[in-house]
Amino acid sequence: MIHFTISYDDGLLKTIIAYPFAERQPLNKSDLKHRLNEIINDPGATNAVGIQRPAPENRIFTNRNLKLSRILAVGFDLDYTLAQYRQEQLDSLVFQQTVAYLVAEKGYPESIQTLKYDHQFAIRGLVIDMELGNVLKMDKFRYVSLAFHGLQVISGRSRREMYNQERVTFSSKRFRVVDTLFELVETYLYSALIDHLEGRGETVNYGQLFSDIRETVDLKHRDHSLKNEIMRQPGVYIERDPLLLPALYRFARSGKRLFVVTNSEADYTEFVLDYLFRSSDAYFPSWRQCFELVCTESRKPSFFEAGRPWEVLAEGPCFFVRGGSLRQLEAKLGIAGDEIMYVGDHIYGDILRSKHSSSWRTCMVVPELKEQIRVDHEVRPLILDLMGCESKRKELAMEFHMRGNQVKLLYQFKEVESDDLDPDELNRIDQKIAEINRKLEKNNRELSRLLYRSHQLRSSISSSFNPYWGRLFQTGGQLSAFAEQIRDYACIYTSSVSNFNFYSSQGYLQSHVTPMPHEMETHTAELDFDEPLERS
Ligand SMILES: [Mg+2]
Repeated sequence: MIHFTISYDDGLLKTIIAYPFAERQPLNKSDLKHRLNEIINDPGATNAVGIQRPAPENRIFTNRNLKLSRILAVGFDLDYTLAQYRQEQLDSLVFQQTVAYLVAEKGYPESIQTLKYDHQFAIRGLVIDMELGNVLKMDKFRYVSLAFHGLQVISGRSRREMYNQERVTFSSKRFRVVDTLFELVETYLYSALIDHLEGRGETVNYGQLFSDIRETVDLKHRDHSLKNEIMRQPGVYIERDPLLLPALYRFARSGKRLFVVTNSEADYTEFVLDYLFRSSDAYFPSWRQCFELVCTESRKPSFFEAGRPWEVLAEGPCFFVRGGSLRQLEAKLGIAGDEIMYVGDHIYGDILRSKHSSSWRTCMVVPELKEQIRVDHEVRPLILDLMGCESKRKELAMEFHMRGNQVKLLYQFKEVESDDLDPDELNRIDQKIAEINRKLEKNNRELSRLLYRSHQLRSSISSSFNPYWGRLFQTGGQLSAFAEQIRDYACIYTSSVSNFNFYSSQGYLQSHVTPMPHEMETHTAELDFDEPLERS
């Protein structure tokens, strides 16, 4: 419910304070007009009474309860957070430039220039094994559930022999986690080159190959050849989300102070923000009126720890700097800790480190969510079919087990009691054994059919998500390592910053309790029994 406190001065309406959309300052008349429109057009206001919920792909998902009303400042990463790239186009550009450089400067054969970029091969959360030249998908316990060498899947037996003796440790120099969307193209290139070179009978030094690719991609970022191309044709590479500025505007209107912390260079940051805020008059005259502070070349994750003193590049409504640190930023804003929410797409650089080094609240932007949710919906009939199939299979397996035991008992009975049984009784027992065996055979045929069907369905469902790796958030019947990290470190996650349009900027985002297996039987985890105790 929204409460208004209205005060009159000489009969004229002067201020309105709206709760829970509380301002730190009373609103003046022009602000009031904006605010009333905002409340009237606020889908979040109807969400509160459960009349309308955003579409699944527009939802914000909560791991840790978050009261947005307590957030006084919201910070954003730039690349793949505020600026969404058209990934296939950008990766194809990186792919072409990297391959050309590897041939021209690193001595790789010209034949690699025939390779085509496959944007489906790599997903976030994979791990590159630089010792064996493999790419791995891990479950939440860090056990390898799926592995590729080059572009060929490694058989279950070989995979278990190679990896299942130990957990994969992120800190080991042998492994490299594919954390960012920028790294997907490198991962494909690594596997495609191993496939291609070994296909030619060459021996590949897997560690050296990885270094060559990493160095080249890094160089292409540093020498501005990629950025120049993006800046030449931003429309080809950057997706302009029409709902981004309204989302930022809603934050600003509700009194939250906004800032950017990006590792991108100052000139590129300025260019991308200019591009995103082009024709932004309806919301902000420019990004300088939206963001109070923009930290470029921030060197996250070290920004969240020691950082380095910033160099001021421009002052004015927006403090534009190079470098900086979390402490310096907090001092400048006069806001600290859990009154700040940081929104980023990089699990390690944006989310995990800020979580470890501060009590900032975190929102992870996971652009892949949209596609995962879409496919989830699309394969629902197959999932229902699979569930029916599995339920029937379990039932038949139990029946099979029970009938097998019956046959065993009849044989035992015959053996122990054979001297005391007359021929009729023995005959009856043999007939029963034959009858049960016929049913067992039928059972067995049906079980094989269901097993085959179940396998087919699993394979169709999995490849609908990704033909190589299946679901992003699951693997081998468990959460994937990537999903577990999001659950552990991101207070909330969503597919895009613009999804904040569908929620009140002062709302309460509440998590669902993840039950223990024994609680799933009794559903006790669905209710928060501790809440009254904590309040009393
Ligand atoms: Mg980013």
